[in-house]
Amino acid sequence: MELRAHAPERNPASDAARVKAEAKELGFDLCGIAHAHPLESARLDRWFDQGWDAPGIAYVRERRAERLDPSRVLAGARSVIALAASYAPELPEPAPRGDLLVARYAQGRDYHNVVLKPARKLAAWLRAELDARVYCEVDAGAVLEKAWAQEAGIGWIGKNGCLIHERLGSWLLLGALVTDADLVPDHPHPDRCGECSACIPACPTGAIPEPRYVDANRCLAYHTIEHRGPIPPELARAAGGRVFGCDACQDACPWNRRAPPGNLVQLRARPEQRTLDLEILLRLTPEEARRRYEGTPLLRAGRDGLVRSALALAPRPLSPEVRALAERLVDDPAPGVRAEARRALSH
Ligand code: SF4
Ligand code: SF4
Repeated sequence: MELRAHAPERNPASDAARVKAEAKELGFDLCGIAHAHPLESARLDRWFDQGWDAPGIAYVRERRAERLDPSRVLAGARSVIALAASYAPELPEPAPRGDLLVARYAQGRDYHNVVLKPARKLAAWLRAELDARVYCEVDAGAVLEKAWAQEAGIGWIGKNGCLIHERLGSWLLLGALVTDADLVPDHPHPDRCGECSACIPACPTGAIPEPRYVDANRCLAYHTIEHRGPIPPELARAAGGRVFGCDACQDACPWNRRAPPGNLVQLRARPEQRTLDLEILLRLTPEEARRRYEGTPLLRAGRDGLVRSALALAPRPLSPEVRALAERLVDDPAPGVRAEARRALSH
């Protein structure tokens, strides 16, 4: 008699429970599952149509079709596994000491490494245990992570555009796996912003034109991290020393007041990275930037981006020390640094 190997009968409910247990074991604070289907396009298209995306993030528009339909990143996709890891600060937070502020997500190690590693391990587990095909991404792929996190019941997209969890707040780094595994989905999370709109007036640059939309052209997170050219002066004046990213619309959110720290300790803040010193930034060479910030998110802006932002945010009128440093940067090889140095000296 011929013996044939049969694929084991799968149980979508127990497989879903096993996926969640494995995600927790790997350090994720939250894991939810959604049925893979094409997403409603109206929200993303409104953002594009209003011009609220910005030239430095053209890649979002370029992969629109993939972002809206998970079967375009993985043929036969049946489930989306939404993952979240918290980088909530340990409370009480010490007061900032340096001149310039760093957004909380960037105060520890580069989250791309810290979160991508366990996400890839979970993908490998799905392949081995459930014989599944998997597309895995953290922040850099073509998946609308926040939309899927809401679909998968992890939380809701708040009026500040962030994904919010009732206990962990919005200090969350998100990832997603698209898979052909058949998993019982969770229920989408309801909106819990209610009558609150505290984040909208809290934005120092007026970058939230309407609830749940952020205009990247006015957002400090975009200008200090993704954008390469000079920072518009009126935004720099309003920035309040936020040199790398911005937390103002999250600081204002009541769901963040008591958020406890998450599981992945590598995401916690390093004291020396909570704030940056203006004069140290203005003296940065490419080698010094690598030595100080290798393995942290700060290198995404690069040495040129950090120096350019420091020049834009330096308090006016410039102190004699800062003026002397800016004069040395007028002939810098980086065009953005040169332009910002000239502008700083012209006031
Ligand atoms: S990150 Fe800052 S600048 Fe951007 S929308 Fe939020 S508060 Fe406004
Ligand atoms: S501050 Fe209020 S409106 Fe804004 S995201 Fe938080 S709960 Fe929603």
